[in-house]
Amino acid sequence: MALKFHNTLTRSLVPFTPLTAGKVHLYTCGPTVYNRVHIGNLRTFVWEDVLCRALRYLGFETVQVMNLTDIDDKTIRGAIQEGITLKEFTARHVETFFEDLATLNVSPAAHYPRATDHIPEMVEIVKKLTERGHTYESDGSIWFRIASFPSYGKLARVDLSSMQRGARVADDEYEKEDVRDFAVWKGWKEGEPESATWTTELGKGRPGWHLECSAMSMKYLGETLDIHTGAVDNIFPHHENEIAQSEGATGKEFVRYWLHAEHLIVDGEKMAKSKGNFFTVPDLLSRGHSPRAIRYLFLSVPYRQKLNFTFESLAAAASAVARLESLDLRLGERARSTGASAIEDGVEAKISSFQNEFREGLEDDLNTAAALGALFSFVREANADLESGQLSPAGAAAFQRALRGADSVLGVLPKAEAGLLDSEIQAKIDLRQAARKRRDFAAADAIRDELAALGITLEDTPAGVRWRRKS
Ligand code: AMP
Ligand code: ZN
Repeated sequence: MALKFHNTLTRSLVPFTPLTAGKVHLYTCGPTVYNRVHIGNLRTFVWEDVLCRALRYLGFETVQVMNLTDIDDKTIRGAIQEGITLKEFTARHVETFFEDLATLNVSPAAHYPRATDHIPEMVEIVKKLTERGHTYESDGSIWFRIASFPSYGKLARVDLSSMQRGARVADDEYEKEDVRDFAVWKGWKEGEPESATWTTELGKGRPGWHLECSAMSMKYLGETLDIHTGAVDNIFPHHENEIAQSEGATGKEFVRYWLHAEHLIVDGEKMAKSKGNFFTVPDLLSRGHSPRAIRYLFLSVPYRQKLNFTFESLAAAASAVARLESLDLRLGERARSTGASAIEDGVEAKISSFQNEFREGLEDDLNTAAALGALFSFVREANADLESGQLSPAGAAAFQRALRGADSVLGVLPKAEAGLLDSEIQAKIDLRQAARKRRDFAAADAIRDELAALGITLEDTPAGVRWRRKS
């Protein structure tokens, strides 16, 4: 099978080929930096990370750009409320955003452009749109006239007959199905702070939210992108408007494959700040959950299905991660032991059949549930071979390489070379205790040695295991 994606534009599964052979240019809408992101937002960001990792696993080079929306209605409101500049206000939220990405082991994108650093590029797009007759001025702002763009609505399949001619909407986010002309440049209004205002050829004001993504995506990735992603709520109006602006300005196809992830929900409702039904990463860590379990939970449901968040499913994710980690440790230990150096018959066949199935899962519109299914069949086989006592060190090393190869996409195993988080250390101590309980002292010692190599020493006390980092 070859790689296929569900393209929102055609509502169908289509074979994927990038414009430049072997290299994928993708734009992934980033956060509005006005508060700490919640795990709903992070489901989308982790999926985008896994998409990039899977593309690399399948042999493509990737260039991922994720913007930071640091100017819009919400960030301005926040800065005014706190009496600080827009930059001071957004800087805090940019910092916690990167903290959460690192905690969830998200590989960095090639660029994280901020809207406020790209005002000249946005002005250029508005000028081009004006030259081509797509804009008009009114109330001191510049509007995109959607009647000037006949294919408006092609992504979201909205009903243009519901459009009120000349009706406008100034808010960055408006109701679904409410088809109206939108502001590409918002004229300055009384009360808007200096720190959120630019004086440009278009007058004094600020860009509209949708314009930001058109400008930053095309600047870093060219006028035609291979893939553009977001969650389903971005389809309309945000992505529809990005298409109108970008194609209106260049006359070229803007995006070849549109991919949209379904929401993370709680009790049947979308997790959202406005509903108050959200958890952040620190919320979950403070309750003792591990970042790698959160990440695994996200991957356990394919991206086009809603993910219903529950603590039971998070606990199940944690035990799945523990099984992978325990296998990795035991394979490592067997690989380091002495014994026959040749890989025995059967090991390579098991590995290649696992790798084929794993790859096919990814190629099927990034079906991570199928890929994990393949992985766990492999885990059962590898465990059985280990327990038979017949697995050679070379065979164990080959199994471990296959496991780690799959983890280059999943990102749920601990990175041996990196510093561990407290919760990860605790998870290892728990694994060690479990190994001791089943009298697997070799596995328990291997965990102690692994931690020691990372500068973490354990002390067994009557009150349980204590640990400390070497200063
Ligand atoms: P925002 O900061 O509101 O622009 O959202 C950042 C990203 O998170 C966007 O791609 C949203 O579509 C996405 N998002 C928001 N809520 C959820 C949710 N409950 N589940 C999944 N993605 C979400
Ligand atoms: Zn965007």
